[in-house]
Amino acid sequence: MQFDDDADLDTSEVRDVRGSRVPGGRATVGGGIAGVIALILGLLFGVGPDQLGLSSGDPAPDATASSAAQVARECRTGRDANTKDDCRIVAVVNSVQDYWDQEFTRRDAQYATARTVLFTDRISTACGSATSAVGPFYCPGDRQVYLDLGFFDELRTKFGSSGGPFAQAYVVAHEYGHHVQNQMGTLGRTQDGRTGENSNAVKAELQADCYAGVWANHATTTPDESTGRPLITEVTRADIRDGLDAAASVGDDRIQEKFQGRVTPESWTHGSAAQRQEWFTTGFGSGDMADCDTFR
Ligand SMILES: [Zn+2]
Repeated sequence: MQFDDDADLDTSEVRDVRGSRVPGGRATVGGGIAGVIALILGLLFGVGPDQLGLSSGDPAPDATASSAAQVARECRTGRDANTKDDCRIVAVVNSVQDYWDQEFTRRDAQYATARTVLFTDRISTACGSATSAVGPFYCPGDRQVYLDLGFFDELRTKFGSSGGPFAQAYVVAHEYGHHVQNQMGTLGRTQDGRTGENSNAVKAELQADCYAGVWANHATTTPDESTGRPLITEVTRADIRDGLDAAASVGDDRIQEKFQGRVTPESWTHGSAAQRQEWFTTGFGSGDMADCDTFR
């Protein structure tokens, strides 16, 4: 994946609170059996940490209290996105939202920009407080995507994914898929607490994978606001393979086999490796969100 060196990045779409302490005590993530259990329960890329029954009530961290805000200082152009991990996330967030903004406009609808919050260890959200162990997630309550970049290391080391820049892009695009669902009213209808391979939860997750594929289809043709040219200049076959590999590595069957030793489809929340790949491929193939009706 390559970015246009000369494009300006819009860092207002990413809030960087890495390294800042949030009220509520020390973070207790990063390893051990507790982390693994949380991952199994969280099942990755979910919607809101409230699914885990984590307590809420911590005040959201004050943006001005953060001295980090590294991305605002360091991520200026596509050149930075080509060289720095966190700047690449900013660029992907920009590209994904540029696409959906244009798609919503085409449909006479208004896309509401959603920020991605980069954090470390622990974060308070409108959906409750969460540790990094739950993996990336979208909180409908405050319409923000939450991401600890350390997750991308885990994608390789714990989940056996090939990793790579486009694996990261897939994860970001999947979370924004939930934001699209939230705006279309789909998301609320799927939060019925049921699990299983035919549950609404799984259908919503597969649709988010499909939406990620739809964006990937348009990634190199969506004009960037700063230049009028696409921010992303190249997505290779190897990139798409990395995205598909990441999608498979967080399939419910793969995770269950790895961490609980057996596959129990009745407790699935995200879909199997094969389903996740299939729906990303469907979206990528046509580039049309109308083909992402996983509820049909
Ligand atoms: Zn998800």
